[in-house]
Amino acid sequence: MSARVAVIGVSIAGTTCARLLTDAGHSVRLFDEPGGIGGRMTTRPVEWLDDDGIVHHSSFDHGAPGFTARSPDFVRFVDQAVRDGLLARWVPVVAPGSHTPLDVATLWVPVPDMSSLCRGMLSDVSISPACAVAVLRRDNDGWRVESAGAAAAQGFSHVVLAVPPQQAAPLLQPHRPDWAQQATVLPMAPSWTLMGVTTDTELAAPTWDLAWPTHGALAWVVHATTPWSQTYLETPVAEVQAMLQQALAQLLGRPLTWHHTAVHHWRYASVPRADASAAATGNCWWNASLSLGVCGDALGGAGVEGAWTSGRALATSVIDRYRAAPAVAGLTAARAC
Ligand SMILES: Cc1cc2nc3c(=O)[nH]c(=O)nc-3n(C[C@H](O)[C@H](O)[C@H](O)COP(=O)(O)OP(=O)(O)OC[C@H]3O[C@@H](n4cnc5c(N)ncnc54)[C@H](O)[C@@H]3O)c2cc1C
Repeated sequence: MSARVAVIGVSIAGTTCARLLTDAGHSVRLFDEPGGIGGRMTTRPVEWLDDDGIVHHSSFDHGAPGFTARSPDFVRFVDQAVRDGLLARWVPVVAPGSHTPLDVATLWVPVPDMSSLCRGMLSDVSISPACAVAVLRRDNDGWRVESAGAAAAQGFSHVVLAVPPQQAAPLLQPHRPDWAQQATVLPMAPSWTLMGVTTDTELAAPTWDLAWPTHGALAWVVHATTPWSQTYLETPVAEVQAMLQQALAQLLGRPLTWHHTAVHHWRYASVPRADASAAATGNCWWNASLSLGVCGDALGGAGVEGAWTSGRALATSVIDRYRAAPAVAGLTAARAC
């Protein structure tokens, strides 16, 4: 008998957990919001018109631009993903005068776009890709996943929440109010991101890929710094867009004409490195009697590697517990509760 697991959130933490559970013989179904697959590792396609009315297509990696691999286990995972054609090394040229918070010699990017890593890892796993989960209920038939007032799926023996902690909190509240409370206070930094297509010839064919100015609003070419994003957290989108366009023009020292611009507000963009206290949380939260778990970068440590570590830790907890006491962890026991 295998567990029947609902995984909410199809980014690197949820994907890693789902992959390992599936490989261990469990039945997994994933849920994500419309357009959400990949989470903060995502690529946004846009269509825009030039001055002659000709349609062009561009795409923006507007979440994580790439990631590093440090621990031996994550390096092994990356090596396998490279062999599977899901990841490639990226050595960006950094603009002169930038300070470099990333180790740009060892960056990895999913190919051909940012969500390809998750999609590729889950090619044989069932995904409900347009299902924003609003409520989790638990009764004698196990866990039920509800979206927009209707049951999306039911009869799960286990639930894994792989969403940012502040988004997990309302789903946890009826079952583990103490976790819900802790989730709301886990530190997550916001980020405003500007995406644009400009007529500027240097930006159209840049001599560099990434820039980190040492002062002002911009951290990457289009990502605002955390303090700036916090200051303008609730500022209307149009104002933020104008300010970031102006900041980029100031950085480049010349006015810019745009074909297309948009901004995206990441309310929960990243875990501040100083707050990445993974060891204190055991990398994930797992409640064996409820068969309920939480994973993600907020628990596993900053960045993609931290989210992967957390998803793996939670899968290991579920698998070990199930191996030790399948009847307790399974649906039969849930019915008896
Ligand atoms: C601008 C920016 C720059 C970054 N730069 C870097 C970097 O350089 N290096 C690095 O390592 N990391 C970087 N990161 C952080 C990295 O992207 C994250 O650490 C990582 O993606 C976290 O993965 P996760 O699986 O924990 O969560 P997420 O990627 O947030 O995935 C959560 C998923 O849950 C889904 N979801 C949420 N609520 C619900 C719901 N109710 N129902 C259904 N689905 C739901 C979301 O749609 C999403 O797909 C950056 C992030 C941003 C935004």
